[in-house]
Amino acid sequence: LLLAYEPAKRLARLQVSLERAVVNARMIYEILDIQPQQADRPGAKPLMMGKGEVVLEGVNFSYQQGDPILRDVSFTAHAGRTTALVGPSGAGKSTVISLVPRFYDPEAGRILIDGQDIADVTKQSLRAAIAYVSQQPYLFEGSIRDNIRYGRPDATDTEIEEAARRANAHDFILTQPRGYDTPVGENGITLSGGQRQRLSIARALVRNAPILLLDEATSALDTESEALVQRALETAMQGRTVIVIAHRLSTIARADKIVVMQAGRVAEEGRHDDLVTKTDGIYARFHNMQMLGIDGFDESDALPQPVSS
Ligand code: ADP
Ligand code: MG
Repeated sequence: LLLAYEPAKRLARLQVSLERAVVNARMIYEILDIQPQQADRPGAKPLMMGKGEVVLEGVNFSYQQGDPILRDVSFTAHAGRTTALVGPSGAGKSTVISLVPRFYDPEAGRILIDGQDIADVTKQSLRAAIAYVSQQPYLFEGSIRDNIRYGRPDATDTEIEEAARRANAHDFILTQPRGYDTPVGENGITLSGGQRQRLSIARALVRNAPILLLDEATSALDTESEALVQRALETAMQGRTVIVIAHRLSTIARADKIVVMQAGRVAEEGRHDDLVTKTDGIYARFHNMQMLGIDGFDESDALPQPVSS
């Protein structure tokens, strides 16, 4: 029993130190359970998970009054399907994603999960339904095992190892000096970008949430890591509702739906085959530039992340 409490205790300690440091909510985005708690709406009920459909209806949002960032954003991310958000840097893609776990609330419009306005459900139940994989995965002080367990504090060692296998991380973990007990973070070993991404995917897999928010990495990995990360992501995406901020043409072309954002609005929406043939379409132009080897969309739009390891 005491052992079972350990991860929860560690999370509690971490929350205290994070709140003391007053970190930007988005920095610790990936670890959805340890956001500083804001009160639920009176009478908030637990989210009743169905198939995991996410609907944005006429969402307006601004960080500062008078400076609208999202304007009348509406789209549906169908249950069990992949919806790709694409568009230039500053278009509002990361902001859209940050509204789903309620790091911020819309000024107008609403967001529904399986028909329930997320403003009316408890944050705890909302966030339990969501996993997030960022571009630059954050590793905490602690062992590899602890770092995967942040996805779900009550996960067993067996579940952690199973998630690591599916994330293509198990083999490299075993080659570390102390395997799953190897310390990472500031005082631990240094992992490569691809290894960190696979740990972050394992963290999302152990969480086993029906909704996956994914900010696709733009920084280049070596070809072998790239392939391992890509396959791990495909495993993680299977059977979930995925909203991915997509940069790679392969991800975008395979998505069930593409939502093209520009200046805070949905500019175009459809499947790759439809959008690519649209005369004067933004997506068609972007696609042509990528075909020519030019980055159509500026990719320097990562979420701010803390420096780690
Ligand atoms: P994208 O992910 O498409 O690059 P973002 O959602 O990150 O776009 O940003 C949309 C706009 O909101 C940008 O103009 C950005 O500068 C602004 N913005 C993003 N985060 C914040 C914040 N925390 N405070 C104020 N403005 C922000
Ligand atoms: Mg972004």
